[in-house]
Amino acid sequence: MRYDSAFINGDWIPVGPETMSLVDPATEQAFATLALAGPADVDKAVAAARSAGPAWREADRAAVLRRIRDGIAARRTEFAAHITQDMGCPPKISDAVQVGTPLAVLDGFLSNPDPAVERLGHSLVVREPVGVVAAITPWNYPLHQVVAKLAPALLAGCTVVLKPSEMAPSAVLLLAEIFEEAGLAPGVCNVVVGTGPVVGAALTAHSGVDMVSFTGSTVAGRLVAKSAAETVKRVTLELGGKSASVVLPDADLAKAVKATVNNAFLNSGQTCTAWTRLVVHRDQHDQAAALAGQFAETMAGRLGPLASKAQWERVQGYLAAGEGRLVTGGPGLPDGHDRGYFCRPTVYADVPRDARIAQEEIFGPVLAVIPYADIDDAVAVANATPYGLAGAVWSADQDQALAVARRLRTGQVDLNGARFNPVAPFGGYGQSGNGRELGRYGLDEFVEIKSIQLG
Ligand code: NAD
Repeated sequence: MRYDSAFINGDWIPVGPETMSLVDPATEQAFATLALAGPADVDKAVAAARSAGPAWREADRAAVLRRIRDGIAARRTEFAAHITQDMGCPPKISDAVQVGTPLAVLDGFLSNPDPAVERLGHSLVVREPVGVVAAITPWNYPLHQVVAKLAPALLAGCTVVLKPSEMAPSAVLLLAEIFEEAGLAPGVCNVVVGTGPVVGAALTAHSGVDMVSFTGSTVAGRLVAKSAAETVKRVTLELGGKSASVVLPDADLAKAVKATVNNAFLNSGQTCTAWTRLVVHRDQHDQAAALAGQFAETMAGRLGPLASKAQWERVQGYLAAGEGRLVTGGPGLPDGHDRGYFCRPTVYADVPRDARIAQEEIFGPVLAVIPYADIDDAVAVANATPYGLAGAVWSADQDQALAVARRLRTGQVDLNGARFNPVAPFGGYGQSGNGRELGRYGLDEFVEIKSIQLG
């Protein structure tokens, strides 16, 4: 693994002199020294991406992407192991979700790979690549978030500079090896690992970058949008969330609560779409809270650690504040752990809708149970945060569930536990961001649209 280099124009180029340690969050042991790139490396990567553009537009892009997909599948076990070591996701979930999801997403893009050409009256509407894309990604799903940008960018004919999270870079460094094996032409996709304020900021301000596709926190997203405004780049932002699982009174309560706990605690709660608020009718509140506590306790031994010491301390801060009524969990290490950034699966009941744990993204295994009075009130609670990324509605009556789903100000709603669809548009309302990823809508983010009037 080339922790000492950037992958630029098809070559591994040593970077530094700044370094940082990569730490296994389960053991707190450093396992590698990562050399950090700087602005001069960004300049080289952007220049390589710009010169690779014209030839890439003429290439059989879907064939290359298919080889990248097959390369990931062939080294699936390696990807999963590296992701576990970088950010703590338990091995089974690393394999099924951290690697399985990006493979499904790639298959989704490859099932419909060509930007559409439309006829509107006497106009031909064509889609052309937006140009050089900077893709900046976080550590919580370090392969999936990259693939969700890389696949549509490449299919659209863009060339790319990837800036993975410096905390979990291994999956992307491995991906660069696959670019070489798949015969991706030099410069089409470059990887530069460094910090947000140095490498991220250099990319967002760079005059040679046409678009920034960013996934990360709302705080960093604001800085990205401001920096990119100077050169009027296209910016898409996939940011934080505080999603609600709304259980209507006629729903199967136990099923809804169990699925909500599972969803909220997936990846130890470090999922932007996590349903971290369980919104239940006040008459069912105590029963729902007790069930949530029981399900949470069954997960205690199965959760991986949080990804870093900083993340663990942040989550402990919310637990120490002790808002609402503690049902299970709380501050400190779980039983059986004396090291690692492990956290107790925690449920709070009777949480006021304006409490910090009901409003802010915690990014840990913490569920807030919030009571509502009637359906209008349930919708009001669900919509009462600055975010709008995901959500769920549970009801025995599909029409009623759909009616409530349509009133939620959020980019995705799953009815009665419906499964993830890798070609359905994914993205946020409000401060969860703008733009959409995945499938046809995801591809459209990476194109300029040109109207040609036929005379
Ligand atoms: P983060 O915002 O700290 O970092 C994300 C990326 O941005 C990293 O690569 C980082 O180096 C870079 N970065 C930081 N500051 C920057 C700056 N000023 N300019 C340019 N780049 C900068 O987020 P994180 O802690 O790595 O990830 C967790 C956050 O990501 C959570 O808030 C989570 O909700 C969000 N997230 C959102 C989605 C989504 O699709 N909506 C998906 C996963 C995670």
